[in-house]
Amino acid sequence: MTAKILVVEDEPAIQELLVFNVNQAGFDAMRAADAESAWEQIRQHLPDLILLDWMLPTTSGIVLARQLRSEEQTKSIPIIMLTARGDERDKVLGLESGADDYITKPFSPRELMARIRAVMRRHIPTLSDDKVTAGELELSPVSHRVSARGKPVDLGPTEFRLLHFFMTHADRVYSRAQLLDQVWGTQVFVEERTVDVHIRRLRASLEDSGLDGLIQTVRGSGYRFSTVTAG
Ligand code: CA
Repeated sequence: MTAKILVVEDEPAIQELLVFNVNQAGFDAMRAADAESAWEQIRQHLPDLILLDWMLPTTSGIVLARQLRSEEQTKSIPIIMLTARGDERDKVLGLESGADDYITKPFSPRELMARIRAVMRRHIPTLSDDKVTAGELELSPVSHRVSARGKPVDLGPTEFRLLHFFMTHADRVYSRAQLLDQVWGTQVFVEERTVDVHIRRLRASLEDSGLDGLIQTVRGSGYRFSTVTAG
């Protein structure tokens, strides 16, 4: 799934430049010129990362970053702060407001992309090509292979993405709506019971190895992946 990056920048030329580079790097760019339209965008589509200008009209980037951090839905979205200021004190303030990284204008597209990729790798393991291991399960995004107790497991593309998401987000409960958003993407209209169908298939594929119990149903809430047996 292509990662979505929300660009929040009020200067049209810089916004254009950012959007161009983000798209060029293979991500999906969303754009907003102020905090209010940023929230509108976020409500439609949860972005995977936000490039946030410090100096915005009405609500500053710092205030918006704090708002993002205080809301359940948005608090874990990584933020890269953009600013013309190079002051060390401002940098600290930016990071304290909840930004994950900081980039000073003018920046080169290469530097920008390197920062984006670094933050993505840290925060969104499903977008990285790193091999993931959880207990006796191993998943390789590059070769699209999964093995359970050393034996290959045959998975469909959705089950593969679902398992990748679970393995990189272990021990947390996700509702069906959250799984749809994270694994299918919000742009796709899928009914919530579709999640159950794919969970069932995923479990069936893991049955042979006896690892199907890693996908746990949390009654009334959703699903959780855990290598710790539910008590
Ligand atoms: Ca600005």
